[in-house]
Amino acid sequence: MTLVRLQMCIDGQWVDALSGNVFQSLNPALAQPWAELPDADEADVDRAVQAAQRAFESQAWKGLTATARGKLLRRLGDLIGENKERLAQLESRDNGKLIRETRGQVSYLPEFFHYTAGLADKLEGSTLPLDKPDMFAYTVREPMGVVAGIIPWNSPLYLTAIKLAPALAAGNTVVLKPSEHASATVLELARLALEAGIPPGVINIVTGYGPSTGAALTRHPLVRKIAFTGGAATARHVVRSSAENFAKLSLELGGKSANIIFADADLDSAVNGAIAGIYAASGQSCVAGSRLLVQDEIFDEFVERLIERAKRIRIGDPQADETEMGPMATAQQLAIVESLVADALAEGARLRLGGKRPQIDGGGWYYEPTLFECDSSSMNIMQEEVFGPVASVMRFKDEAHALAIANDSSFGLAAGIWTRDLGRAHRLVRDIRCGIVWVNIYRAVSAMAPIGGFKNSGYGRESGIDSVLDYTELKTVWINLSQEPMADPFIMR
Ligand code: NAD
Repeated sequence: MTLVRLQMCIDGQWVDALSGNVFQSLNPALAQPWAELPDADEADVDRAVQAAQRAFESQAWKGLTATARGKLLRRLGDLIGENKERLAQLESRDNGKLIRETRGQVSYLPEFFHYTAGLADKLEGSTLPLDKPDMFAYTVREPMGVVAGIIPWNSPLYLTAIKLAPALAAGNTVVLKPSEHASATVLELARLALEAGIPPGVINIVTGYGPSTGAALTRHPLVRKIAFTGGAATARHVVRSSAENFAKLSLELGGKSANIIFADADLDSAVNGAIAGIYAASGQSCVAGSRLLVQDEIFDEFVERLIERAKRIRIGDPQADETEMGPMATAQQLAIVESLVADALAEGARLRLGGKRPQIDGGGWYYEPTLFECDSSSMNIMQEEVFGPVASVMRFKDEAHALAIANDSSFGLAAGIWTRDLGRAHRLVRDIRCGIVWVNIYRAVSAMAPIGGFKNSGYGRESGIDSVLDYTELKTVWINLSQEPMADPFIMR
């Protein structure tokens, strides 16, 4: 099969790596390479960061009013909308995500750009009510400089958009490093940005592996902010890199989110919410509701209904309209899922569903929807993120018990609560230690709603107004209003 040859975008030019080295991107549904990309090293990364720094200082970008920047972002959002089917197809091919999911995500993507475009000229400072009558002071929000965006493979376009849009709205320039497993749509975004009129050098993309390309980017001395989404082990490398020049960080990491179903819940909705939480996106979602906590009274009925629906999930070609669950995005991810399932069996978790690869033509990295019943929250399968279609389910007695299990996690990304009792929902919302809580819904996202975690799920927030502020520096300005000359500092009064 002839491989599609892709290039990276540096300073508005489409280029190969200086070394000429390349790597392959694989189609997860076929376990076959489909594209070849430049494998960027330190010299390429330096070229990209220098281009971003030049663009940051250029009149073509710095000289634009915030309103003009907002208009460019709005245009980019429009172009994404016009190209949505092509982008959805490409992402599905590159990372094996269901076409119906990539279509849904890409169709919503313009909203992120439109919403953030509107914020570009509303990044106001404040005047300060000082305790010094002869002084006037105010603050200004300024862009930071070059932003490095490190993107994982599970939702490349969406996870790029929520970094790129606020970074540009605030007036920064960016260098993005998509995952070596799924770079194609991030490159397309750069193409659309140039078409939208965003000046060359404002968005640069370097492709390659994490420990080489990614590390070279995160430790580059000109990078002022790093927006990272990925796993905790990688995040630790990134935090160490950022210590070199104290680049500001935001970390969106994994989770082991509790989806809590009370006996008074609407069971049909709760089953759908549980399925959406863990089997949608084949469980390769940071907010996956992978710990199902179900109240004693309804436990058997709920688990039966869940299994009945999960058994009917149509697994297969992610690009076919009727498919409901596609493959794992990488062979490594499939191996991780298999090894965690083997551990769960060894520690005595009861396998209620799945636990193996299905028979699917084409040789892709598929795995069945899987469910383990657990007796203790300390079991590995109740604690470790699988990042695959594997849920653990555990009984609870009452609200206090559910809360104790929900908070018994090193992660704190998201939680779901299914109940008709408003007081109980609010008590749990207050007491659960995580960044997103959904009540009677799961996995809803919006351009206006911040996403991010507590504890080992990271820090910083993406989406929403605060995410744009996170890409700014705050400058404080003092003006002396006094008509008196400034006093000699060594004469004490
Ligand atoms: P990963 O940590 O392996 O890779 C993420 C990115 O970091 C990739 O682009 C990779 O090339 C790069 N990278 C790897 N080593 C690096 C290094 N030393 N320096 C700089 N960059 C480096 O994660 P993944 O396997 O691509 O994605 C899965 C993980 O991401 C899961 O743990 C998941 O929970 C998390 N995730 C979190 C969110 C969120 O919003 N919280 C969203 C999606 C995924």
